[in-house]
Amino acid sequence: MSGNFEGGCFCGEVRYKITGEAVLQLMCFCRDCLSITGTDGYAGLMVKSEDFHLVQGKPKTHDKTSKQGRTVTRHFCGTCGSNLWGVTSFELTSVPAGSLDDPNKFHPSKKVFTHGAPDWARIPEGLEEM
Ligand SMILES: [Zn+2]
Ligand SMILES: [Zn+2]
Repeated sequence: MSGNFEGGCFCGEVRYKITGEAVLQLMCFCRDCLSITGTDGYAGLMVKSEDFHLVQGKPKTHDKTSKQGRTVTRHFCGTCGSNLWGVTSFELTSVPAGSLDDPNKFHPSKKVFTHGAPDWARIPEGLEEM
């Protein structure tokens, strides 16, 4: 996995770049991720927040605190509605793989919350359960 990822939203208003390596690349099938993506799960890269840089645009944000008390601040484009990155309380930023300019730079190795996935979820083979 190489660093220097770039990406942005569907309409092109919001752009970002990542200067470091991804800490983790995963697929999540939790209920929140289903709601946020509108499909069977979330594919994303976890990067250090210090390596994540907003290059262009002013995304809108939405805060959600989980039952465990962790707040995630999700960013999305106010013009086209694309789901963009989320910032967790652990100094990590989670970036959806589909927002990368080159989605083939995403190489997931882990999967989480598969027990909550719907029957029709497309869970890839070969990923380690976290
Ligand atoms: Zn947009
Ligand atoms: Zn999730």
